[in-house]
Amino acid sequence: MALNGKNALVEVCNPNVTTPQMLHDAIAATCASGGSFNEGRFFDKLGEKFDYIIEDPSFSACPKLKCVFDKLNDNANKLFCNTMGNFIGTPDFGLKLQVVPNSEQMSGIDGATTRPDPNTGLITMKLNETFVCEEDNYPVKMAGTLLHEAIHAEMYRKALENGLNFLDPDSYAEIWDVNLELKHPDFGKPYSAAQHEIMAKEFVDDIANALFIFNNQKLTVEHYKFIAWSGLSQYGSHLGFVSYYIDEFADKHQELISSSTTACP
Ligand SMILES: [Zn+2]
Repeated sequence: MALNGKNALVEVCNPNVTTPQMLHDAIAATCASGGSFNEGRFFDKLGEKFDYIIEDPSFSACPKLKCVFDKLNDNANKLFCNTMGNFIGTPDFGLKLQVVPNSEQMSGIDGATTRPDPNTGLITMKLNETFVCEEDNYPVKMAGTLLHEAIHAEMYRKALENGLNFLDPDSYAEIWDVNLELKHPDFGKPYSAAQHEIMAKEFVDDIANALFIFNNQKLTVEHYKFIAWSGLSQYGSHLGFVSYYIDEFADKHQELISSSTTACP
């Protein structure tokens, strides 16, 4: 659905909330609060009344990524719905999905989720066009990136929802009831290290299982652990869960990739 010709609003895994109703209510609220229509005010109202997801045109223009996203959504993939889906339907914060060039801070990085904008509360998930839009990208790897980034987005959202400081690693420890062990500066910004440590401790099996389901239950869940550990192996190896290069899953990963195609499943 075109929104002011620039943005598209999407629902995730929630048939009870319809986009037309959300838009209608936000438009009514915008107009009720001051006459003529104003885009900024519209998004403020939308943000006040609903969680929402905005597909940036760069996201919609990347058919391969859109296909992977839609499959996760249409199949109501449990992990996907429990993370991305939480951006819909309750008064909270928004998420924007954007594709960016493989340069500057995103150089060589397949995805990144920004911390919430202090003015709008908007969280932006940035996906590197080289890793998500090209013909030879494997959908299962792209799904892995989307799921990983969706967990980051949900972690920020949950900290905000609970009125906690999303820059404080202890906020995440409190929400997920874990003891954080990684406080060393080598692990990057403390809140980012906290999010990754919790993923390494709590989410890897969920990611692997979600990918197995996404890929029509091809081979076994173990075959998806290499991808599930991607971006987390530094934390997992520090914690003694896996080796740094995730060698223990390399053969199974190779088997998965050699038996996969780059077509959207
Ligand atoms: Zn990450």
